[in-house]
Amino acid sequence: MAKRNLIGLPIAELEKLTVGLGEKAYRGRQLFTWLYSVRQYDFDLMTDLSKELRRKLHDQFEFRLPVIAGEDVSVDGTRKFLYELGDGLCIETVLIPDVGNGRTTVCVSSQVGCALGCGFCATATLGFTRNLSAGEILGQLISLRDKFGESAFTNVVFMGMGEPMMNLDNVLKAIAILSADSGMSHAAKRVAISTAGVIPGIRKLAESGSKARLAVSLNAATQEKRARIMPISRKYPLDDLMKALKKYTTATRTRVTFEYALFEGFNDTEDDIKAIARVVQGIPCKINLLAYNPVSNLPYDRPSDEKMDWFARQLYPKVPAVTVRKSRGTDISAACGQLAGAKAKTGDQR
Ligand code: SF4
Repeated sequence: MAKRNLIGLPIAELEKLTVGLGEKAYRGRQLFTWLYSVRQYDFDLMTDLSKELRRKLHDQFEFRLPVIAGEDVSVDGTRKFLYELGDGLCIETVLIPDVGNGRTTVCVSSQVGCALGCGFCATATLGFTRNLSAGEILGQLISLRDKFGESAFTNVVFMGMGEPMMNLDNVLKAIAILSADSGMSHAAKRVAISTAGVIPGIRKLAESGSKARLAVSLNAATQEKRARIMPISRKYPLDDLMKALKKYTTATRTRVTFEYALFEGFNDTEDDIKAIARVVQGIPCKINLLAYNPVSNLPYDRPSDEKMDWFARQLYPKVPAVTVRKSRGTDISAACGQLAGAKAKTGDQR
């Protein structure tokens, strides 16, 4: 019989598991610490568990992490990892060091491919294959700590492959283990979940009590324009999205980050600036501007640096906070919207 993977099981399930093996529940809590805090993958070295329990665990369970099947390093220090999952499918994860700020951000994937079909995104061209399990989401982070140590990353963003709100239960399960003191001890407020605007997910996140932050990929500030590049906007129109975000910020007492990628000649005019200011009014927020990173075969271009500067300077007085995010890892196709290295292995033949 195939052994069950322990990676991704939360504390309550490990307690149940040890009780099922005829042990006390607190043994499950000890196991949780070995798994996620110590990251010990040899049952024999879990020295505070009885020999009998270690034998039972060894017979029935194992540790399976996604395997690094490829790695590219950018001239700017950004690293892109290709992870192979247990069933042979692949996903990508990006590690982005920012030496000046002492921060390293890891951009994790939540799905194999994506079903939302944003017109500018390389992942969209893959189609959707399946959700990642909590263990596969967490496995990307565990693997990076195994490779680079405890300081492998300071911030986690769900901006890799997939729409995290379409797999929110597993995303939240992974974040709970990541942020548990006896787990990976990484503050949830340094985790951001980015959505294309899936309203039920935004509501569920507010109700969950998670301290993870919310980011919304805006990219166009009128319904007509947004629906042209983000089909999800037809299901969840911009007005409804903004109402949901107002409720979210009130309920959680946090602000939301809007990601706005500039596409040359599409969403970079004075009218677009006015539309952004109008649509975010009354929502505690900041706006991250970034230049679009072109993807071959997709019809959008990157604006000039001068256009980016002009846009940021015009927008800033009209909204509470604006930052310009530098594109990183463009030479290895690791920047926002460029993740598609798994194409050959997602089962998608287009
Ligand atoms: S931008 Fe995000 S939500 Fe849209 S298709 Fe790409 S991965 Fe999916």
